[in-house]
Amino acid sequence: MKDKRPNILFIMSDDHASHAMSCYGSRINETPNLDRISEDGVRFDNCFCTNSICTPSRATILTGTYNHINNVTTLASRMDNQLQTFPKLLRQSGYQTAIVGKWHLGQGPEHEPTGFDFWRVLPGQGLYHNPIMIDKDGKREHKGYVTDVITDMSLNWLKERDKSKPFCLLCHHKAPHRHWEPDEKHAHMYDDIDIPEPPTFNDDYSNRASAAEAAAMRVDRDMNERDLKMPVPEGLTKEQEKSWKYQRYIKDYLRVVASIDDNVGRLLDYLDEEDLTEDTLVIYTSDQGFFLGDHGWYDKRFMYEESLRMPFIVRYPREIEPGTINKDMVLNLDFAPLFLDLAEVDIPDDMQGRSFRKILQGDTPDNWRTSMYYRYWMHKAHHNVYAHYGIRTMDYKLIYYYSDALSQPGAVDETYEPEWELFDLNKDPYELNSVYDDPAYAHIVKELKDEMHQLQSDVGDERYEKDK
Ligand code: CA
Repeated sequence: MKDKRPNILFIMSDDHASHAMSCYGSRINETPNLDRISEDGVRFDNCFCTNSICTPSRATILTGTYNHINNVTTLASRMDNQLQTFPKLLRQSGYQTAIVGKWHLGQGPEHEPTGFDFWRVLPGQGLYHNPIMIDKDGKREHKGYVTDVITDMSLNWLKERDKSKPFCLLCHHKAPHRHWEPDEKHAHMYDDIDIPEPPTFNDDYSNRASAAEAAAMRVDRDMNERDLKMPVPEGLTKEQEKSWKYQRYIKDYLRVVASIDDNVGRLLDYLDEEDLTEDTLVIYTSDQGFFLGDHGWYDKRFMYEESLRMPFIVRYPREIEPGTINKDMVLNLDFAPLFLDLAEVDIPDDMQGRSFRKILQGDTPDNWRTSMYYRYWMHKAHHNVYAHYGIRTMDYKLIYYYSDALSQPGAVDETYEPEWELFDLNKDPYELNSVYDDPAYAHIVKELKDEMHQLQSDVGDERYEKDK
């Protein structure tokens, strides 16, 4: 008898913020093919990552555990490929599994992909043009543009798969990761227009802990010629130069996103042509969010909204009402349990996330989470973002910058005085004004600290606060 469990097409890009997707109300671009997924499925508005950086988020997605459990705390960490992951469990249960594209969890016998019938991945970050890719037979260059190449390989694998089994395909794009190099087709998109600047573009970092001011990821100051692809024109005022750099940055970012959108369309067309749409769960997400000039920044890492929030749209006609918008809090930790649940595989007790299949069906469990624990470990590396942890509830966000490397791989061993921030997200959605020291919020601070410590203890992490 044919296995009737759903196919899973898990498309994930790298650093694609939801505010650059038209289905999330983008002010700066259109993504018609991504919108097909949300129009025929559900858009999650509060999907968050538990550590906003590439390698750790990928480890959490595969294992369903926090980074202090899977030991992939920073970009310099590599994942032990003997860990339990959802592709392994799906494969053991009869799924045909594959990953094509970005892996970024290490190379060699102890770190290369395991649990896949087929894998072909980029080494490290990979290249935009003529990418080298690694598979079980070794390394080889592939001619073309990386997003097209990854999609071509994904389509080939789908065409050649064993059709008697359900499939789980991880199509993981390099794009739109820095340095945002577009293909020829999109190289001149947006040439004749100005992209609007975000409302917080000229943030002065006042009324917050010192971390925001200290971060070295400013569009005006920290972008280099490789990012901008040409020297800054002479004779511009400071303000004009900042705007010029933003246009250079954001146009390339959006051009790279346009190629993803086209290629997602090709995959969706294939499912339609092969009559697989009804039977296939299609997800589009990204490993974390990104600052698109918000707060004057690029990059991620902070627990602030733009980087914490992951796009997450999913289509599955058998169980999801088309055009649904959901505000429940789901985490990258929950993806593995969701896939296992849909595949009717027991969810191991040591996975720390929770399946949200009921939420997809429009039936949120009464005891669903209303707060989440976050932790960024890679103190100061690359962009001088201080190590921090915190809690986000539906209304507030409390952040503790413990500002210490704690011997984590790649973190910079310089320690600063810890600091706190509290944001009232309803009154201050852009997080411009910490109210941590405002006496009117003293009771909120107390409640949030208690709840954060509870979450921390529930997930088995340690606290480092010096001011108890
Ligand atoms: Ca990333």
